[in-house]
Amino acid sequence: MLIYEYKLDGNQRQYAAIDEAIRVVQFIRNKCLRKWMDGRGVSRNDLQCYCSVLAREYSFAARLNSQARQASADRAWAAISRFYENCKQKKSGKKGYPRFQHDNRSVEYKTTGWKLEPDGKHLTFTDGCGIGTLRLVGNKKQAVATFPVKQIKRIRMVKRADGYYCQFAVEAHRRVEHAPTDQARGIDVGLKSYYTDSDGNIVNHPRYYRKAEQRLKRLHRRLSRKQKHSSNRKKARKQVAKAYLKVQRQREDFARKQANALVTSSDFLAYEDLKIRNMVRNRHLSKSISDASWGTFLRWVKYYGAMHDIPVIAVPPQFTSQDCSGCGTRVKKSLSVRTHICPTCGLVLDRDENAAVNILHAGLCILVLMAFAGTLGHRETSSDEENASGQSTSTRRSPRRKASKQAG
Ligand SMILES: [Zn+2]
Repeated sequence: MLIYEYKLDGNQRQYAAIDEAIRVVQFIRNKCLRKWMDGRGVSRNDLQCYCSVLAREYSFAARLNSQARQASADRAWAAISRFYENCKQKKSGKKGYPRFQHDNRSVEYKTTGWKLEPDGKHLTFTDGCGIGTLRLVGNKKQAVATFPVKQIKRIRMVKRADGYYCQFAVEAHRRVEHAPTDQARGIDVGLKSYYTDSDGNIVNHPRYYRKAEQRLKRLHRRLSRKQKHSSNRKKARKQVAKAYLKVQRQREDFARKQANALVTSSDFLAYEDLKIRNMVRNRHLSKSISDASWGTFLRWVKYYGAMHDIPVIAVPPQFTSQDCSGCGTRVKKSLSVRTHICPTCGLVLDRDENAAVNILHAGLCILVLMAFAGTLGHRETSSDEENASGQSTSTRRSPRRKASKQAG
């Protein structure tokens, strides 16, 4: 899937209509969740059927396109099945019992309820929401209209701090002729560096957040001084949101560029399959970790890996930083010990580089095993049906970038 993103240009009435559609999505999602909570053995199919019941019961729900209604029910189901999955795996701690949503910012259409105008620069919504025709503003180099309409599988409108955006999910493979480099790399994403590879190359953190922190602090202070419910407060809040949006875009951009460069210069990549969400819960590390945005980076690595058709292997994280990459001896060390010194073979290496070499070795082992099992080609990346910007059926509102750049 490729994602093309445009900013939407319309008038206040149209924006209000989009807001309304977004509210209806949330309404349906929450109604479905309520139904699941109240009943027993409610299935995904039950929720899909429930959509039409809701449409009959509530006229405002009926105005939203029927596939968009079903997509809303799917969001509820996504939350429910995530919860089931966590329970099944006996995950420790919170299982993520589904919650009602109050901050939805997007609405998703599938193949009906919209029409791309022949000029390729306007999009018309044809359901009862009354959104009408919007102008698509985007990079000239990206043209979603060049794809056959039947390849456009999904349209998602997202509200952000600086306006309304529209993402087209296009079913297409973008293959890039990969120039062989003879390089196999393990990468260790870390706190100290953005990543360290098994050759000892280090890419440092951009630390956008830290740089922007002063500004964000000031904006937050200003916000807290404003009177509640005043229009000045609204304005100040918008400024804060915009500042965050900027940081997120910078991060995403950095991650994408680094990932592209890495994939272009390698024939094989292995990375550590970190449970990022768990780590971010660690309060002392969280700011640096979020700032590092590993998740984004690794997603882009997988995305470009698929595009270049090179193996990108996720390695389980056990002991990658403890074991000696030279002889395999386990050398226990705390996070503050930055150098690996092996008492057995005498290897002295930067901690992260040692880990990266271990990751590379583990990745190559997995590759060999996969080749034996005949599963080569069904790599971990193929499980990501979604695109690199992390878009999924979930309703999390992580800001997404301009697709022109994503596709590039
Ligand atoms: Zn050793």
